[in-house]
Amino acid sequence: MIAAVLPTYNRAPLAFARGEGSWLFTEDGQRYLDLGSGIAVNALGHCPPELVEVLTRQAGRLWHVSNVYTILEQEALAERLVAHTFADTVFFTNSGTETAELAIKMARKYHSDNGQPGRIAFVALEGAFHGRSTGAIAAAGSEKMVKGFGPLMPGFSHLPWGDWEALLAAVTDEICAVIVEPIQGEGGIRPVPDQVLRDLRAKCDATGTLLIFDEVQCGMGRTGRLFAHEWANVAPDIMMVAKGIGGGFPLGALLATERAASGMTAGTHGSTYGGNPLGCAVGARVVDIVSDPAFLAEVGRKGALLRQGLEGLVAAHPKVFEQVRGEGLMLGLKCRIPNTDLVRAGYAAGLLTVGAADNMVRLLPALNIPDEDIAEALRRLDQAATAVTPT
Ligand SMILES: *Cc1c(COP(=O)(O)O)cnc(C)c1O
Repeated sequence: MIAAVLPTYNRAPLAFARGEGSWLFTEDGQRYLDLGSGIAVNALGHCPPELVEVLTRQAGRLWHVSNVYTILEQEALAERLVAHTFADTVFFTNSGTETAELAIKMARKYHSDNGQPGRIAFVALEGAFHGRSTGAIAAAGSEKMVKGFGPLMPGFSHLPWGDWEALLAAVTDEICAVIVEPIQGEGGIRPVPDQVLRDLRAKCDATGTLLIFDEVQCGMGRTGRLFAHEWANVAPDIMMVAKGIGGGFPLGALLATERAASGMTAGTHGSTYGGNPLGCAVGARVVDIVSDPAFLAEVGRKGALLRQGLEGLVAAHPKVFEQVRGEGLMLGLKCRIPNTDLVRAGYAAGLLTVGAADNMVRLLPALNIPDEDIAEALRRLDQAATAVTPT
């Protein structure tokens, strides 16, 4: 008999009753050090007092009003994002997937309004992840995600990871937009080299193609900059943001330049819940905290600390680990044993990590994880690695 909850996940037999900082507690009081953060969502840890305060204050005042009215909390958050980024304008959603949908619509509308309605083709990368809607799975293109769901939205081609010349050559004056994650998350913590991001920007400019960065996972301070593309010193035309921006409250944002967004006039897009006062009030506090240069410098320092420990683990467990990849607190361990074995051994050691493609185990701790929790995480990872070492 099918489970009451649609069984689209292979769930671990773990259920949590409470969270605090980097820790999750089961009903019977067992505690787990959380290096997954709900897949980079709980950016400030579980139940951070400053977000609980904002959320409960807003909950006593106003939860929801329609987007047919002015929403002051939404304007306040949009103004912050515009002030801190390349963007001139922002549309709020409840998820990353919805930002993918709008990115696709916005890019096609831009060319349509500029006399090229047939310019609908997107270039994307193999291993990409942009969400689970029919448009987003077409954008990602992997067999596992699309099989049985066709016909897919036409117009997406996928270039092999690492063949950067082929990627650049695919960007022509017939392409609508390029969509890339500056660091692939689900694809296995794979950073696109900074120079490739710069070359893509130049090729897009030369051909009139729009550049879309999906920073749903790598953005919001995760790499030690507010957005990962800042490391390469390039800006996109359109950017997808979600996950960390709500600190655990469902919130996404599509950021764009005035030029790229020029076709999105009244009536061309909408959302019932997107940009509701609860989510935007929390998001504004998250952005205030994470955009502080001192906070971002701490993310960099903590990331270096964790990375140094991980390099030590790779050296100590050569049969288990191959390498460390990533930036800031978006790190991954490439395994020589099945990554799922290590994740499971982590559970036994009271440690939560998440798998990714390319046999990676992802480490995405709270951006404010205390140094002592980093040290404890390394001890528990060492324990898990010892448990799965082949004899
Ligand atoms: C998680 C993710 C998405 C989809 O976000 P949802 O909130 O699950 O819809 C899109 N792109 C990237 C890079 C992601 O990591």
